[in-house]
Amino acid sequence: MSRPDLLDRLARAQAIRTRDGLLRRVRMIERADGPRIVIDGKALLNFASNDYLGLAQHPALREAMTHAVAQSGVGASAAHLLGGHRDEHAALEEKLAAWTGRERALLFSTGYMANLGAMQALLSADDICVQDKLNHASLIDGARLSGAQLKRYAHADVAVAKRQLASRPDAAALLATDGVFSMDGDVAPLRELAALCKKKHVVLMIDDAHGLGVLGTDGAGSLAEAGLSQDDAPVLMGTLGKALGVAGAFVAGSAALIDGLVQFARAYIFTTAMPPALAAAASVAVDLARAEAWRRDKLHRLIAQFREGADARGIALMPSRTPIQPVPIDNSERALRISQQMENARFYTPAIRPPSVPAGKARLRITLSASHEETDIERLLDALASALAAQRNG
Ligand SMILES: *Cc1c(COP(=O)(O)O)cnc(C)c1O
Repeated sequence: MSRPDLLDRLARAQAIRTRDGLLRRVRMIERADGPRIVIDGKALLNFASNDYLGLAQHPALREAMTHAVAQSGVGASAAHLLGGHRDEHAALEEKLAAWTGRERALLFSTGYMANLGAMQALLSADDICVQDKLNHASLIDGARLSGAQLKRYAHADVAVAKRQLASRPDAAALLATDGVFSMDGDVAPLRELAALCKKKHVVLMIDDAHGLGVLGTDGAGSLAEAGLSQDDAPVLMGTLGKALGVAGAFVAGSAALIDGLVQFARAYIFTTAMPPALAAAASVAVDLARAEAWRRDKLHRLIAQFREGADARGIALMPSRTPIQPVPIDNSERALRISQQMENARFYTPAIRPPSVPAGKARLRITLSASHEETDIERLLDALASALAAQRNG
């Protein structure tokens, strides 16, 4: 037997993806002015961004970042534990803990790393990790990295989660779920999951990448909206690159949890601290997200307008009350064609295909932002209606 060649194998996998019409393509954004972007020289209205509150280009964030760069340079130049931890990081961690109603918070460079770090620090091979089937890839990867037994329950099905936990009654257990599901936009049954976890001595971990800034009083997220405290949901992961418009992430919880992560989360320990200027910008983003409730109010008005308009035009949507408003298309090639037609009509609404979503569940993942206007939504709905109708007839 001869040794298989890894690069050949990669190329074959790529060829299969191409054959199946599942190839992904990186598109370059030549210019961005809020939701107005330019791709391939064409001006498009962007309905794919996670900048839900319209903060990514806010003057106060630019100002905070440039000021911090002028003060302290660009790179943190070391890991947090080895001289990379600056006052900008410390201030942001305090702000995030206060906002989310947790004792402490710990910064990570990305949400992907925060999930990996927290799960690897908490779980080991003898444990069980129970997860929603539609969880973000980083939660799945975190469980894999930890070596714990991973069981995935049918989407939002608390009864199945309960059975899976009961299969290993003596194992230490973590139940992890997205707060808001990234490709579907619906909210997890958080209160039921919290009650189950409390009863069965299971630690509940929530990834609130899409809830933070968007849901709950002053935007504190899906847990705040559900009225769940640190005691109910001990591990909260939030990201700074979506509604907050910056980059990076954090885990919030008890002082004991954070102290433990500092010691054992390898994705925290063995990496350079995020640039302090990013932390400075994120601090201002948190202040704005909390104080400027009009951004959330406007966003939720646009969501209602989109859903009512879709209903009036006979466009089927998924049950979501968040800015993630997918239009189910099911067939991948059809989703690509509709997305292309939307682009011809000057809307950027990329098709999401397997493996990002289950087979046969392709969709346009439309996201709304406080930086959109009512007229943008009306035009989007009209374009959607004609693209869908053209595909039905053609
Ligand atoms: C985007 C996202 C992440 C990863 O966050 P990054 O900071 O972009 O790495 C994790 N979980 C969910 C649910 C996400 O949507």
